[in-house]
Amino acid sequence: MSWDYSIFWNEAIKQLQDEVSEQEFNMWFNGMEYAESTDSAVVVRVPSSFYRDQVKQRYYNRIRDKLYELSGMQLALEFRVERPASPTSAESGNPHPHGQAVGAHRGANGTSRHGFGVASVEYADDEPAPSPQPRRPAPHPNLRGEYTFDNFVVGNNNSFAANAAVAIAKNPGTGYNPCLIYGGVGLGKTHLIQAIGNSVHREFSNLKIVYVTMESFTNDFIQSIREKKMQSFKNKYRYADVLLIDDIHFLQKKPETQEELFHTFNALYDANKQMVFTCDRPVSEIRDLTDRLRSRFERGLNVDLQPPSYETRFAILRKKTERALINIPEEVIELICNNVTTNVRDLEAALTKLVAYAELVNKKISLEIAQQQLKDMFQSPQQYNITVDVIQRTVADYFSLSTHDLKGKKRTKVIAFPRQLAMYICRELTELSTTEVGLEFGGRDHTTVMYACQRIENRMRTDPTLEPTIQSLIRSIKEHGNKQ
Ligand code: ADP
Ligand code: MG
Repeated sequence: MSWDYSIFWNEAIKQLQDEVSEQEFNMWFNGMEYAESTDSAVVVRVPSSFYRDQVKQRYYNRIRDKLYELSGMQLALEFRVERPASPTSAESGNPHPHGQAVGAHRGANGTSRHGFGVASVEYADDEPAPSPQPRRPAPHPNLRGEYTFDNFVVGNNNSFAANAAVAIAKNPGTGYNPCLIYGGVGLGKTHLIQAIGNSVHREFSNLKIVYVTMESFTNDFIQSIREKKMQSFKNKYRYADVLLIDDIHFLQKKPETQEELFHTFNALYDANKQMVFTCDRPVSEIRDLTDRLRSRFERGLNVDLQPPSYETRFAILRKKTERALINIPEEVIELICNNVTTNVRDLEAALTKLVAYAELVNKKISLEIAQQQLKDMFQSPQQYNITVDVIQRTVADYFSLSTHDLKGKKRTKVIAFPRQLAMYICRELTELSTTEVGLEFGGRDHTTVMYACQRIENRMRTDPTLEPTIQSLIRSIKEHGNKQ
């Protein structure tokens, strides 16, 4: 006897689509596909074991309950990890894999292994890659070869962004479109966006990938106007299958570039082409961005990168030293990880400096050498020279305001919020009383300062983007304070 519960499965998924967010649905439900039924279970196909574990953990009970509600039977849910079939010749003739379910299309060779390495999420399929060995395309001219998923260490600080990036690379244009990765300096935005590019380039060699910084997009645009070559500019961007634009905060106060990007965006979006952007802040905080472009960026998936924890910092350095065959005692790695906490770029810089020194003087890296050589890079809180002035300047800069605005009388929303934020940060980072802080902000009363702190704390509870923003401001305040 054969069973077919597909009707219950389809209805369950349909109903769940209304119950979970679109983002969640695209991320986790699109990749599941009904396979078959047994007497007491529905079997679904999933593209990888990572995917299976995530779905099981997140939705198993919910789907099972739904199936029970619909069928009146206690049906179990079974997963089958199945590498989707290699494309048929008809399929491989199709240059655009868009509009297909997650996992429905693979690279021309049908292989795809993305291991994240040390302390990382294993995003690998169950079966070994089939032979023959894939033929690797030439490196992409605008992407750095070492910015791969394999070289990206995943921790709690970045796992959502990293998983989204992997999912996008596997199925460009289908799920999270556009995707915006935001976070402070040196936290891996460029690495991740380029890793998407590198992976797509390897797996879907027929797709056209365009990677640019927002700055070079802008320069390109200006030049094409000057040289009357708008058409070739348009061709370059609008025929991309995957458009990757790094550092879109550069768009601030550039209305014409915004306009052009808006049209590029629409053209690609309508054609189901994948777009990924990075930004040093949440989109809501880019100043002078037209509402329509803002809403486009916010339409897709927005994920953030946070500073890495001690363990992740350690894993990153370990991976770097292993890759570069650097011989370095564990205690030195611990020393660096304990002292460089701000971002990954600084972490790497400390290692590079040490390695360069050791080579130069032809000595082995020891704890003593490390302590001596890196002391300038290690910041202890006492060394910070955090003044109200530095805080005001950093916050004002971030919001494209002047410190006069923060100290002045105006109470428009554009100024009031940054002012409250600056007051809050003063209370967090300095020993000043509310009265003293008030004096620094144009002689305001201490109750105003108290109110400001209260407002910020309340807002943090409802706006998940605020805390990362504050953390990133605090980091740059400390950096500035340190340079003084
Ligand atoms: P951003 O663009 O956010 O300023 P980058 O992507 O340039 O940061 O990262 C700075 C450096 O740190 C790069 O060399 C990058 O390879 C490295 N890096 C950042 N995050 C990670 C990570 N999770 N694992 C390994 N290397 C990382
Ligand atoms: Mg960058």
